[in-house]
Amino acid sequence: MFTKILIANRGEIACRVAATARRLGIKTVAVYSEADASARHVAVCDEAVLIGPAAAKESYLRGDKIIAAAKATGAQAIHPGYGFLSENAEFADACAEAGLVFIGPPASAMRAMGSKSAAKQLMEKANVPLVPGYHGEQQDADFLHGEADRIGYPVLLKASAGGGGKGMRVVENSAQFKDALASCKREAISSFGDDKVLAEKYLQRPRHIEIQVFADTLGNCIYLFERDCSVQRRHQKVLEEAPAPGMTDERRAAMGEAAVAAARAVGYVGAGTVEFIANQDGTFYFMEMNTRLQVEHPVTEMITGTDLVEWQLRVAAGEPLPKQQHELTINGHAIEARIYAENPEKGFLPSIGTLRHLGTPAAVSFELGGAATAIGGAGAATHGAAPAAVRIDSGVRQGDAISPFYDPMIAKLIVWGADRKQALARMAQALEQYHIVGLHTNIAFLKRLVEGQAFASADLDTGLIERNHDTLFPTAQPAPVAALALAAKALLADERKHATDPWQQTTGWRMNQTYTRKLAFADEHAAYDTSVTYRPGGLLFTSGEESIQLGDQANRGTVLRDGDTFHVFSNGMHYQLAWNDPMAHAGETESEGGRLTAPMPGKVVAVLASKGQDVKKGDALVIMEAMKMEHTIAAPHDGTVNDILYNVGDQVADGAPLLDFQAA
Ligand code: ADP
Ligand code: ADP
Ligand code: MG
Repeated sequence: MFTKILIANRGEIACRVAATARRLGIKTVAVYSEADASARHVAVCDEAVLIGPAAAKESYLRGDKIIAAAKATGAQAIHPGYGFLSENAEFADACAEAGLVFIGPPASAMRAMGSKSAAKQLMEKANVPLVPGYHGEQQDADFLHGEADRIGYPVLLKASAGGGGKGMRVVENSAQFKDALASCKREAISSFGDDKVLAEKYLQRPRHIEIQVFADTLGNCIYLFERDCSVQRRHQKVLEEAPAPGMTDERRAAMGEAAVAAARAVGYVGAGTVEFIANQDGTFYFMEMNTRLQVEHPVTEMITGTDLVEWQLRVAAGEPLPKQQHELTINGHAIEARIYAENPEKGFLPSIGTLRHLGTPAAVSFELGGAATAIGGAGAATHGAAPAAVRIDSGVRQGDAISPFYDPMIAKLIVWGADRKQALARMAQALEQYHIVGLHTNIAFLKRLVEGQAFASADLDTGLIERNHDTLFPTAQPAPVAALALAAKALLADERKHATDPWQQTTGWRMNQTYTRKLAFADEHAAYDTSVTYRPGGLLFTSGEESIQLGDQANRGTVLRDGDTFHVFSNGMHYQLAWNDPMAHAGETESEGGRLTAPMPGKVVAVLASKGQDVKKGDALVIMEAMKMEHTIAAPHDGTVNDILYNVGDQVADGAPLLDFQAA
């Protein structure tokens, strides 16, 4: 076994790998960019090497600098995590040339699976079922258009080198084809440096079911069952679970064996995932193979009582797989939710900022990197005890920032239950206890999702979120009186705590008479004129027509004060109530007033409008790329574009006006 490894990644996965290495007594070397000098992954490793500026291209994607860091620190092997260099065959080759072990599959297997098109050609030969489509070499736009017409709409265009749900476009009809192809190619070249695409039939109501495979250098190859990752937005996973609801033993064996056949066909070694797209009747087709550890590997660890990073290290060191196929069984049910810094109400736009407050579920009995805990539920792996109920894999701490440079994932929340129902209940509870202040998150959305009828009843397909749009994105409601009362109570408690004058300790209280104090709160939906009435018997809180007793035991929640904003977490909701302190100056009001501004820092990738052009509401005017995604800035009303303030390729700051627009 190795005595020291370098982890060529950041965030939660770097921390995850470090935790297992530490448990096995292996020293760890972190690499970091200038933006990550104080990041958690640097803190949890034994040594750390600065490899360049914030931009991934100049740091986490610099294989040469990473290899030099490994040599300089005496690491024997490199774990690439996921993303970044994890599926880069040239990097794996360079590691070998430098005498370092790449903890992953052979470069030849990565090459074989690296292109979705080439992988499909290979799988076709191995008799693995494929979705009807075109995955050949010809890339001429008219030719591809003809192929799409032949396949029949809707058609899905995919970047052959794609990943992470990027570089994909659904084309509904022939008329849309040209624009979709251009946009797909643009994203493909900017995200993957390769604009090759494939086209295939876009299946209706499919499920995403993937198989975890593992192979060693001695010729053993097994599968660790399936994960259902059907709940997605923009083709990217939101919730993942294992086992897949409704899976039969026969189907599981058939998919497992197809996945092992796919792995064997490319001489696979290490951890890999074979992704299938399945129809509701259970028929399945090969989609792609991810030649690395998958983001959602923890759900497999929880139901199998394994530590897949330990398996990776053992296999890379030449040891045999720790278990054989017949030794693996499924215990209970696990669900993972990806906690993102993003705003679901604004099309899941990434949100950047500082985690001013980070409160995680109280019942965590198991946290990666935590002092007294181990991965995979140490008990589960060795003594058959129940796995931990709640696991959090995170790369950040309170006070850390989510920057525009990297993936905006904050953490992965993983729960285990004896069955799906228990896992669901634990997930809902854990989400309710997850409190973040400082940026937008998808936590409340996730809670609606796991509690919604569709997910709860396992009515799964990749369109679940869109199909349930109305319940998942309820129209914003004014804050309930209970939430306002919690804010008021926190405010009064705060005042009492900070009062120096003993008479102030009873602010507002008059012996044997009532006294009412007005408190004005507001959030983005409404202004609330509330009042607290001090009476000998207690405090009565009133908002509009409703009154409740302040401090009522039934009215519970957590309140965090940030200046004059009260963050009330109650029933899985997060209310942000700004208190209008009559003693302070009126706060400046924020108004976007229809200005067409950059939603976040990024690059202009296309300008579709021209100066002086009359446009209709909804017309796409400018396309920006930020955080590896395209954002379209559309006309808010019918009007005229007076001026365009940036050119293609320009870097734009957050909030910068992009166009001078005049509403008609
Ligand atoms: P999965 O492993 O489930 O297929 P995805 O494909 O959604 O997960 O996510 C993997 C993607 O995450 C990578 O392809 C990359 O775009 C992105 N990524 C890369 N590095 C990181 C990181 N350190 N943290 C989070 N996401 C990353
Ligand atoms: P990535 O490399 O980005 O993970 P995949 O090929 O794995 O790309 O596809 C990502 C997701 O897109 C799938 O999980 C699925 O939801 C959807 N998808 C892919 N192919 C199809 C298809 N032919 N029909 C319908 N949905 C598809
Ligand atoms: Mg995929």
